[in-house]
Amino acid sequence: MKFEYSAGGVVVKKEKDKLWVLVIESSRYHHRGLPKGHIGDTIKGETKEEAALREVKEETGAQGTILRELNPITYFYSFEGEKRKKTVYFFLMRYTGGDITQHDIESENVEWISVDEIEQRLTYEDERKVCREARKYFDLLD
Ligand code: ATP
Repeated sequence: MKFEYSAGGVVVKKEKDKLWVLVIESSRYHHRGLPKGHIGDTIKGETKEEAALREVKEETGAQGTILRELNPITYFYSFEGEKRKKTVYFFLMRYTGGDITQHDIESENVEWISVDEIEQRLTYEDERKVCREARKYFDLLD
């Protein structure tokens, strides 16, 4: 079995008295999820925090700052007949700027979704759980 490690973010902004979370649609799998990607694939010695910020920037065009680490998720999938165990480290991030139309081809769409709708819009239950945990720390955004 191959082990994979990725990092990503629950990127939040406050606007019109509401909180909004960045969600992407994956070009490859067409699921709707949080931005994330492989740690250290192109940068040797990259930390999970650095990877999370880099992947958010690449996949969404947005820049953020990390407010705190959230619980990681683990899932299994098969690729070309080989089983993979994947761990994804997530961070709660404050959106600091950037244009969400300027994303790479990994995402076919990037949008801000109201926190009230986030659970029904995400494809995977484990990422819904990450968002539920993130909600506990939204006072860090004040
Ligand atoms: P990364 O975004 O880390 O670069 P990737 O785009 O190569 O990764 P994943 O998004 O991990 O790949 O998708 C690999 C497989 O796992 C796909 O079949 C996808 O549908 C499934 N998958 C993706 N996210 C989750 C999740 N949160 N829970 C369960 N299965 C998932």
